[in-house]
This record gives sequence, C-alpha cells and structure tokens, in this order.
Amino acid sequence: MNTEIDNLTMPETLDAIDKLISENKNAYVVTPNVDHIIQLERGGEIVDVYKHADLILCDGKPLVWISKWYGTPIKAKISGSDLFPLLCQRAAQKGYRMFFLGAARGVAAKAAKNLMARYPELKVVGTLSPTFGFEKDPEKTKEVIDIVKKAKPQILIVGLGAPKQEKFIYENREKLGVPVSLGLGASLDFEAGNVKRAPKWMSDHGLEWFYRITQDPKRLAKRYLVDDRKIFKLALKYKKNGNI
Ligand code: UDP
Repeated sequence: MNTEIDNLTMPETLDAIDKLISENKNAYVVTPNVDHIIQLERGGEIVDVYKHADLILCDGKPLVWISKWYGTPIKAKISGSDLFPLLCQRAAQKGYRMFFLGAARGVAAKAAKNLMARYPELKVVGTLSPTFGFEKDPEKTKEVIDIVKKAKPQILIVGLGAPKQEKFIYENREKLGVPVSLGLGASLDFEAGNVKRAPKWMSDHGLEWFYRITQDPKRLAKRYLVDDRKIFKLALKYKKNGNI
C-alpha cells in the first residue's frame, strides 16, 4: 500500500530508536495509520517523506488486519501515542535529551511537566508550541529551527498533525541536526491531559477513531467517516495487484 513497515514489537522499536540515536544521522520515524495510507495514495511530498524514513511503524489496528489478510502479518500495532511515554521512560534511563514541539499554546510545556513528574530523571531541554501556520513563513520557521537546534536535543517530538509534522521534519532535518525526530500527532495533547485518549480496549479493537470523533466531531468526522473509508478500496486494490 505504497509503503513498507518495520515489523517490530514495542521493545524492538525502543531498541531501534536507541540505535538511531547512537548513529547520530538526523534520522526520523513515521507512524503510518489509515489516514497516512490514504494520503500516500494521493501522492505528493508525503511519498518522499516515506521513501527516506529511517523507521516506519504501524500505527493502526486496521493496518494490522490488512497485513494479516495479505498473508504478511505485522507483529504489533505501535501507536505513536503508546510509544511516546515509553520513549520518555527510556530517555530518562539513558539520559537522552528531549524537545517537544507543537500543539496549541502551553500544551507542549504541560506535557513536559507531567512526564517529568512521572519520570524524574527525564531531561526535556525545551518545549515550543509555535503559532498555527508558522511553517508557511520562512522567518518563523527559521526561528523555530534555531530554538530547537540551540537546545541540542537527541530526540525531537513533533506534534503538528499529519502530514505537516512529517514534512517539517523531512524538509528541515539537516538544519535541525537532531539524531532522531518523531512526528507523533496528538500525543502531546494526550500527555498534557487536555485531550482524553480512547480506553485501551477500544484502541486494541480498532475503535480509537470512534472515540476521537466523539471528542472533536467537527474536525475529525470528515477524516474518519469520509476520507478513511477509502481504505477498503485500497486494501482490495493492492491485494488484487499482488504488490505484496
Ligand atoms: N497542530 C499544530 N499546528 C498545526 C496543526 C495542528 O500544532 O498547524 C497540533 C494540534 O494542536 C494537535 C496536533 O497537531 O495537538 C495533532 O493534530 P491531529 O489530531 O491531526 O493529530 P493526529 O490525529 O495525527 O494524531
């Protein structure tokens, strides 16, 4: 379906990120869900973003189901939102420096405060929630890059929604000079506590989308009920094409 997936369990994912940090090569991680797969089919810059990604994780139960149907089962769903606190725990153990970028005003800082309370050894060396639309202004983008660069993080978490966060990382990774960057969507909101995550039983059964619609129907109903419905057609298309 226009991308490969790194078939990893959660502990293997954390080890793979450790390795990327030690290699120190401006690596980045993407977490495809149904929405990304639909965007990839449409083409555009996200295709290049995926082509050069260092780690591609499976963020969505429907993709796990499709992989089984194709006879190439993915071991586990690795949601960005499940990975984020575990990565903070690992960072606290290893002494990695983290930077949180994105979300609405004050949210990245609140997420950092909550996570540092949970993991006292965690080093969040900076947080920044830039004004919406900053990426369209080269001056403002440069300011953001300079702030991140100056803090010298080893892990950069970007929560600007997809595909904005992936494009930001892809286009600026050389300038940012961070060993590993991850686009983690609404994870900063979840850890700040201003948006509630779906209960575990719902995400385990592929129902996280339903819960998220109830939280923000205006913004998310179209995404999940209209756009993401195309996944059925796509799954069939690539099954028939035998691209597996
Ligand atoms: N966001 C942002 N700048 C933007 C658009 C979105 O900081 O220009 C933030 C938004 O506040 C939210 C996050 O991006 O914290 C994730 O958005 P979304 O719900 O689309 O993420 P996903 O569903 O991909 O996890």
